[in-house]
Amino acid sequence: MSETIALLNFADLYSGFQAPISEFDCGKKCAPHNPGGKPFCCDTCHAVPTVYHAEWDYLEANTDLWHIWRGDDCADTAADADAERARLQAETPDDMRLVACLGPDQCQRDFRGLTCRQFPFYPYLDSSGEFLGLSYYWEYEYQCWVISNLHVVQSAYREQFIKAFEQLFSHYPEDVNSYQAHSEEMRDKFNKQRRAIPLLHRNGFTYKISTHNERLRRVTVESLAKFGPYKIAAELPFPEETV
Ligand code: SF4
Ligand code: SF4
Repeated sequence: MSETIALLNFADLYSGFQAPISEFDCGKKCAPHNPGGKPFCCDTCHAVPTVYHAEWDYLEANTDLWHIWRGDDCADTAADADAERARLQAETPDDMRLVACLGPDQCQRDFRGLTCRQFPFYPYLDSSGEFLGLSYYWEYEYQCWVISNLHVVQSAYREQFIKAFEQLFSHYPEDVNSYQAHSEEMRDKFNKQRRAIPLLHRNGFTYKISTHNERLRRVTVESLAKFGPYKIAAELPFPEETV
């Protein structure tokens, strides 16, 4: 563990990143679409949280909410669990570990990890390494209700997200490179699909990013795409009566 990593105070980070994404509990919008009945981001069959080692030390000392992920939640056999654990561990950075919580019924809001607070967003960086704002984990487009309803994202959440990641980057400078690489991967994927990247910019406005030249085009947040069941629901005559 490097000296800089040890300096990040996760209690401080968490206290500055408490704002909810939306006015209401978005988990009630997506959970009905998950056969497991849980919000997708709280279901390790869909997303396994990671925490930094220093974050784990803080959580382990202060709450019983978390345990090291065993990998057997959704596997049919022990061999499947081993294979899944090996696969995800290979993808997990050295300074992080895979964890699981007691479940949404026993969530402790103050002790949610950074990955809980940030989901479904990640810090988007352009090819020069500038942290422009929030984009989302595209692989959850058909599951996460928020991704189809970005207009619900509150400005306090956006501001706290930016500050939290600036704080994180000052202690984990190597994460700038990994999020820059992740942003580049999104540009490549969306370019192949001939799609622009949605961006909740740190300036408070919403943009689409061209994947050809990285130019930003300002748009209304309501004009952004919807996906899967949330697209179908929005096209119904009385969408407010549906999830
Ligand atoms: S962030 Fe997305 S996946 Fe998580 S609870 Fe909200 S709508 Fe569901
Ligand atoms: S700590 Fe809470 S928000 Fe995070 S995964 Fe568990 S139930 Fe979901």
